[in-house]
Amino acid sequence: MVKETAFYEILGVKPDCSDSELKKAYRKLALKYHPDKNPSEGDKFKRISQAYEVLSNPEKRKIYDKGGEDAIKEGGGSGHGFSSPMDIFDMFFGMGGGGGRRRERRGKDVVHQLGVTLEELYNGAVRKLALQKNVICDKCAGRGGKQGAVERCPTCRGSGLYTRIQQLGPAMVQQIQTMCPDCQGQGERISPKDRCKACQGKKVIKERKVLEVHVDKGMEDGQKITFSGEGDQEPGLEPGDIIIVLDEKEHETFKRSGRNLIMQMELTITEALCGFQKTIETLDHRTLVITCIPGEVIKHGAIKCVLSEGMPVYKDPFEKGQLIIKFVVNFPTQIDHSVINKLEHLLPPRTECIVPDNSEEVVLVDLDPEQEARRQYRHRQAYEEDDDHNHHRAGGVQCQTH
Ligand SMILES: [Zn+2]
Ligand SMILES: [Zn+2]
Repeated sequence: MVKETAFYEILGVKPDCSDSELKKAYRKLALKYHPDKNPSEGDKFKRISQAYEVLSNPEKRKIYDKGGEDAIKEGGGSGHGFSSPMDIFDMFFGMGGGGGRRRERRGKDVVHQLGVTLEELYNGAVRKLALQKNVICDKCAGRGGKQGAVERCPTCRGSGLYTRIQQLGPAMVQQIQTMCPDCQGQGERISPKDRCKACQGKKVIKERKVLEVHVDKGMEDGQKITFSGEGDQEPGLEPGDIIIVLDEKEHETFKRSGRNLIMQMELTITEALCGFQKTIETLDHRTLVITCIPGEVIKHGAIKCVLSEGMPVYKDPFEKGQLIIKFVVNFPTQIDHSVINKLEHLLPPRTECIVPDNSEEVVLVDLDPEQEARRQYRHRQAYEEDDDHNHHRAGGVQCQTH
């Protein structure tokens, strides 16, 4: 049991979620609420980032689970407070940060998520993705107007800055410099009559671009495919990248676990005891037949596997993981009285029970797991409080003996 669940709720995960569930949840929400896509949801973006920053760090997650958000703010773990949401985002998607290539005067990278089915990841696929992007206007070659139409901004006289005087008190003024609103800090502008008609002086125009995304066999949820230099164009800047992040959709039969596929197979009690034959449709639409010969029993919860029928390995697609089958045996909920005798004749004998004279007759009821968990939690809390008191007492005794 955790003290608070707010961070888990922000990410829409359960407190016992795995690391990969956490990553997936953050990825989805961060892309959805990123200021580029959702400028009015800055606060939400920040909360998502804080929740992920804490829960993705095992040490911080432990502190949070025990003491909630207050414990994190008090500086449990390394440093206090949170990193900038943009830093967390860039780190997660492996962008910016000057690593690797030189990134002088370079435009922003843009991340898009692409939902893919397990079939597509198994078989490979080419997906077309239509995007809007800014390209340099070719009517004016990115100048925004006729050659020589650019003039010094009259508002800021070319400085790009706008100075405002603010009266703070009777004899106190403060100069505040902000970006010039008329030229957006550029220091120059194009007089309205000379503006390029195609781009209205913006130097770039929006263009529809279709990207062909090659989804290779064995690619994984969260894997990135980068289109170098396909980001928005801007005069004087090297365009950034478009990064496609794969988002694996759930499959109704198979669950992926690394290179293995996991599925459940339901059996009737007759099949479990007397053998069966069943078919499985694979992700490339072949039909596998599995046989359990009569005489062999499959127990409820048994796990078996079919070799090399799992996912293909990325960049080595002839190599495949395993198909793991978890068997669920459906026991009947009731048995007709008329067959009990027959069954008893066929099945092994019961173990004999000797009831002593002073025994107590009790009633069996169904267990409600939720209620039981609550009961245990209350008990543990009471115990921990008690434990704290004991520590204090022990400390006191030590002081006296010194
Ligand atoms: Zn200006
Ligand atoms: Zn133009």
